[in-house]
Amino acid sequence: MRRFLSLWAALCICWASTFVNAQRKTESPNFIIILADDLGFADLSMNGSQQIRTPNIDALAEAGVNFTEGYVSSAVCSPSRAGLITGRNQVEFGHDNNLSNVQKGFDKDYNGMPLTEKTIADRLKSLGYKTGLIGKWHLGNESHFHPTKRGFDEFWGYTGGGHNYFRSAPNGTGYLSPIESNYKTPQKITYITDDKGDECVDFIKRNKKEPFFLFASFNAPHAPMQATKADLELYRDIKDEKRRAYAAMVHRLDVNVGKIVSTLKKEKLDKNTVVVFLSDNGGPVDHNASCNAPYNGQKGILLEGGIHVPFIIKWPSSLPKGKTYMHPVSSLDLAPTFYELAGGKTESGQFSGVNLIPYINGENTEIPHQDLKWRFTISAAIREGNWKLVRIPDNYPMLYDLSKDVSEQHDLSLEKPEIAKRLLKKLGEWDVKLPHPVFLEGAEWKHNQLQLYYADYQLKQPTNK
Ligand code: CA
Repeated sequence: MRRFLSLWAALCICWASTFVNAQRKTESPNFIIILADDLGFADLSMNGSQQIRTPNIDALAEAGVNFTEGYVSSAVCSPSRAGLITGRNQVEFGHDNNLSNVQKGFDKDYNGMPLTEKTIADRLKSLGYKTGLIGKWHLGNESHFHPTKRGFDEFWGYTGGGHNYFRSAPNGTGYLSPIESNYKTPQKITYITDDKGDECVDFIKRNKKEPFFLFASFNAPHAPMQATKADLELYRDIKDEKRRAYAAMVHRLDVNVGKIVSTLKKEKLDKNTVVVFLSDNGGPVDHNASCNAPYNGQKGILLEGGIHVPFIIKWPSSLPKGKTYMHPVSSLDLAPTFYELAGGKTESGQFSGVNLIPYINGENTEIPHQDLKWRFTISAAIREGNWKLVRIPDNYPMLYDLSKDVSEQHDLSLEKPEIAKRLLKKLGEWDVKLPHPVFLEGAEWKHNQLQLYYADYQLKQPTNK
């Protein structure tokens, strides 16, 4: 009898844990981050583009929440991705810069995202999620930085900062490096944006029974400016060739966003999947003919054009549809949002960002951030409420009132010296407490970035006329 009872108890425990497990699996949302690379703020039809049609990205915003004051934590790829994937402001762990050739005095073993940092993939994996990265990594080329060692169960892509859209070479490096994967022999590249979209679809289908996290890391519309003939033909009315190629590349990105979303619908995963769309930094207008209107500046600098990006979260089962959220939010908020939704308990100081859900749903009526701060090579910036201060090496700091001047045209630092001084102090106190960068880019970038502060930018939507 005793044996029977203990067997019965064991069965009950087993049944209960299976039930809890099954319940957790059905309730835990899936997460997908769709990251565009170097996309201009203006270049989506939802943001007023008169040249580029992006119905699938627009539909994400229509079915979810559009964050009109969405920021990334850096103005270039690698540090922005380090912030996004850890939920920690990357300058707090020395990841200030883009990866580059190792500078004298720096060790190549440290030329990547510090191993002290946990990624959101690490954290979700520990909560039972299947994790996948499709596409660009750009957080270290040495083997110890490899995505499969940073929480990703599956990887299809390349570890560098960009890729040719049509081909790779067997012994190629950089933009021609072979596609690698730990779950299949990679297919020959057709057009890489399509190939990534196909891999995302495949990942969703194979993992639909488990909670999953998919990082869909597109390189579009980062240079090289390579588009298919058919897509170029769609945009034949754009006279400037680079701009035409750019439009065609954004179009193809949009088509593949549509492919991912329609797969979620087909697999009946749409309602309980959190889909995020954003760009890793503003458009580099000089390189890919993007446009950041109405924002001034571009990739590489801390004016709005470098860091203020399209930012959408869609989660049909729990978030309102077609809502606009107008307080500043950050890419640093995504990791803590996902972690808490997946059942993780955030400890104080674990993330720089916050779980956005209570703010979106109105359970928390405060604002998510008292201020946002940036540091990138030569410059630093702070946004507090509608005041934004940008500090550069060769001039007075610039102060803008974003409630009246989204294009940062009227520097108020001399008219409002008390505000400039207060923000400068807050920014400086933060800056001097930060560690040194763990790796550096070549010194020529400093000069390039300074010049970008003095360039003129298109602040209105371009048209075909
Ligand atoms: Ca980028």
